Amino acid sequence: MKVFKFGGASVKDASGVRNLERIVRMNSTSDGLMVVVSAMGKTTNALERVVDYLETGKEEMALTQWVDIIDHHVAIMKELGLQPGSDIRLQGEIPFDPALPYDQNYDQIVSLGEIMSTQIIAVYLLKQGLSVEWWNMPKLLRTDSTWREAVVDDSTSSAAIRAGWERTNRPQVVVTQGFIGGTADGYRTTLGREGSDYTAALLGNYLNAESVTIWKDVPGILNADPRIEPNTILIPSLRYQDAVELSYSGAQIIHPKTIRPLENKRIPLLVKPFGDPTAEGSRIAEDGVGPINVPVYIWRKNQILITMRAKDFAFALESSLSEIFEIIHQHRLKVSLIQSSAVTISVCVDNTRFVPAAIEALQTHFNVSYNDHLSLLTIRGTTPEILEQAKAGRTIMLSQTTRRTARLVVKE
Ligand code: ASP
Ligand code: MG
Repeated sequence: MKVFKFGGASVKDASGVRNLERIVRMNSTSDGLMVVVSAMGKTTNALERVVDYLETGKEEMALTQWVDIIDHHVAIMKELGLQPGSDIRLQGEIPFDPALPYDQNYDQIVSLGEIMSTQIIAVYLLKQGLSVEWWNMPKLLRTDSTWREAVVDDSTSSAAIRAGWERTNRPQVVVTQGFIGGTADGYRTTLGREGSDYTAALLGNYLNAESVTIWKDVPGILNADPRIEPNTILIPSLRYQDAVELSYSGAQIIHPKTIRPLENKRIPLLVKPFGDPTAEGSRIAEDGVGPINVPVYIWRKNQILITMRAKDFAFALESSLSEIFEIIHQHRLKVSLIQSSAVTISVCVDNTRFVPAAIEALQTHFNVSYNDHLSLLTIRGTTPEILEQAKAGRTIMLSQTTRRTARLVVKE
């Protein structure tokens, strides 16, 4: 069997859904196809706004946003020839419980984006004459209750998913949600933003897929972001280790957690263009070509550089480091770069909502200063000329270079 994953951009409208159908038909086999889908377009962001409004007491704005989201889905359904209300009954009320913690409400609400997209797509494919099963990941993919970043329980999940697969009558397609799972006591959870790739990889691993394909709005894995760099080069073949490095440096192409479940079972990951389904795209595999032989530019946006200076002269790097990383870990910060000098330690982290509390905690031990509105540019396969070009006209806050890799913290 194979696993396909379609991201939000691929299914943002009715024509996207029709294109998905075309790709599914081109690839349907008797072994079955598992189709993992994200929320349509920017639905996840819109649902996040609903949660924010509710939590800050702006009920009317929450409701307006919610109605917009529902209307948008209804419009797509109608364009696809589906009857809202009879073919699919969308969630009526916002599942908000003021007694629950913010993050738990977030998961109950934000997960609906994937529920809606997969319901629409499953019913549409069914009406087009395909044999389809819709799977509800919150009942199958078991997680803990780390809301918004739930940790998957592999043994429970793989058993449930394998049993489900055995039980199916081998429909042409199983349509299911990426990004979401559920707890043993029946709450929905989410796996972290952009987590659908990871779901696809887990399903591939559990079901020993022959391959996992991510359908994207780019030709495959490129050496730079085409929105920033006009002249990009497609990398047709990569090793797992190079792909992991790319995604941890901030390449938006695949979620960082995606590779491990595939590498464990030596399952190739294909990245293909949604708009040109017969194109080769990129293939990440055990026998991939490596190291990558073109310079690769990776931007990680929205960074904050936090610098810690000892409060007294008894500064010991080792004990300070362990203190700092204890705090960073507790506050769920994502570190992108570390640098130390005789009396300071600097860390560059994603500027998330957890940062202010972490800085406060760090301030009890150190003198802390920070710079925000930064980006981290990683250049792999750099040369002195490439580095000079990259630095030109930019304000560089910090740079780290090794022979082949340069990392620049740049003011936005
Ligand atoms: N819909 C979720 C998000 O936008 C998951 C995903 O797209 O992978 O973060
Ligand atoms: Mg998405």
